[in-house]
Amino acid sequence: MPGTDPYEPTGPYYECISCCERTTASDHNGFCSSCGGRVRNLAVARE
Ligand SMILES: [Zn+2]
Repeated sequence: MPGTDPYEPTGPYYECISCCERTTASDHNGFCSSCGGRVRNLAVARE
């Protein structure tokens, strides 16, 4: 359903596995900018 999803990330989406901080930034080098924990890619998580 193109054009009907208001939640459409414009790029790689990541979530910190420690504090759940979310970011679309690509310069975090795989780590949370808030707590320094690891982040995971949410690009494959679709609902
Ligand atoms: Zn974090």
